[in-house]
Amino acid sequence: MTGASLPQPSSARRAELASHLAAVHARIDRARRAAGREDPLALVVVTKFFPASDIDLLVGLGVTDIGENRDQEAAAKMAEVTRRDLFTVHFIGQLQSNKASSVAHYADVVQSVDRPKLVRALDRAATASGRVLDVTVQVALDAAEGRGGVAVPEVPALADLVAGSASLRLRGVMAVAPLGADPRPAFARLRGVSDGIRADHPAATWISAGMSGDLEAAVAEGATHLRVGSAILGSRESHR
Ligand SMILES: *Cc1c(COP(=O)(O)O)cnc(C)c1O
Repeated sequence: MTGASLPQPSSARRAELASHLAAVHARIDRARRAAGREDPLALVVVTKFFPASDIDLLVGLGVTDIGENRDQEAAAKMAEVTRRDLFTVHFIGQLQSNKASSVAHYADVVQSVDRPKLVRALDRAATASGRVLDVTVQVALDAAEGRGGVAVPEVPALADLVAGSASLRLRGVMAVAPLGADPRPAFARLRGVSDGIRADHPAATWISAGMSGDLEAAVAEGATHLRVGSAILGSRESHR
């Protein structure tokens, strides 16, 4: 990366995003072959800190799933993109209940649901705006750390609460690998949690795991959704 430089012409940025995207797809394909997987796998491109114009370019390159983690930024960008009808928006960040009604307006999926109060706020907000939101329960894979997520033993009750909500659809589980530890055993634990909730909720098949640095481990452990930012958009450092 060249750091904070002059804005690139969009043709140059488009070529850069296309090449990064191709490299990530090649990594995913390799990991899928290694795992002997042929089932569907969704790539959610995480565009936080990058402008709406990048989302437009990505959508032009065939990207169908966009991830954002901050309400204010996401709300502004979704109002600005050219073709909001062409992609699904996944909210993946820690979310305060008082932002639920904002998020319910522009997000299709909320992946980071980790407490009952947030479930109730999202359900009320979705109902009020006449929408149905897809939800994954965010699971804490490392109790020692504040990266969000509900502790493993509390997952089933939270999943039941989502499944019983009028305007929320329980889709599965999501997690971020613990910092500084091998992601593979953590993703294996997540897969076990997923198996557990699917016993009661057979349609909750999504396992959202894996980012730029650990997507191979996530594919190996059965992830159905990857959330990849910097490997496609570039370093966020110059955009903070
Ligand atoms: C930013 C973010 C990602 C993407 O991370 P990269 O390392 O840039 O790929 C994935 N998941 C969550 C929850 C994030 O906040």
